[in-house]
Amino acid sequence: MNILFERTGPLTELSSYPQWAQDMVADCAATKQRVLDHDIWRMMTALQLDHESTRNFMMGLWPFIERFPSFMALNLLKTRYGRSPGDDKARRWLVRNIRVEQNHAEYWLNWADGAGVARSRLLDELPPHGTDGLARWCEDISARGSLAAGMIATNYAIEGVTGEWSQMIYDSETYRQGFDPSIRTSALKWLHLHAAYDDTHPWEALEIVCTLMGLEPSADDVAHLAECIKRSYTSMILLGDRCIQSCPERVLVQEDAA
Ligand code: FE
Repeated sequence: MNILFERTGPLTELSSYPQWAQDMVADCAATKQRVLDHDIWRMMTALQLDHESTRNFMMGLWPFIERFPSFMALNLLKTRYGRSPGDDKARRWLVRNIRVEQNHAEYWLNWADGAGVARSRLLDELPPHGTDGLARWCEDISARGSLAAGMIATNYAIEGVTGEWSQMIYDSETYRQGFDPSIRTSALKWLHLHAAYDDTHPWEALEIVCTLMGLEPSADDVAHLAECIKRSYTSMILLGDRCIQSCPERVLVQEDAA
């Protein structure tokens, strides 16, 4: 039987969530850190990412960015109003936040354009081979997984870690200065909007998942959610690897780190 979870503590403190969720987040922390420690972010902010890697990144992530509201729509399809407090919360949140995603595809195109990858290339050409894993995984879990699994993989895991890498890049004075002042604000709008600063979305997604799962979900169900989170992080790491695989500066960064 589902023992109801109702949050009483602050939204953005892990201690406000059930013990199983706290353990799950801790279990996934090392994999999340591997995303944040990826060479691609350091290379980007040091202006060491060559054109091919930048193109791989902008074109490789584009299908994922463009489809993101559709992943949320696939999760929305699973909700039934009045079935449970978790369903109602998920439904309300997804309806509202799909709208928030409205212009994000356009802002990504502006970032790509500003970084030297013409928007027509993203719109008209196929993304580089081997960059499709993240979008495929998110579409698959959003279409075929449970509501909790779909939301934990996309709105919690990916949005959460993306907020953190976006902030790393946006905080880089060197990176921002690399854009011509006439386009800087518009080119960096996607990053600015996604930088974590006071982003509550991943926390809200975690709250919804906890409401859906209750206070005592089965160990098996929790293990599956942890697996989904790690798979999202790993998909992002593989995408990063693919983007920079032929960048000569990569060797340099690795040698620096050694
Ligand atoms: Fe977005």
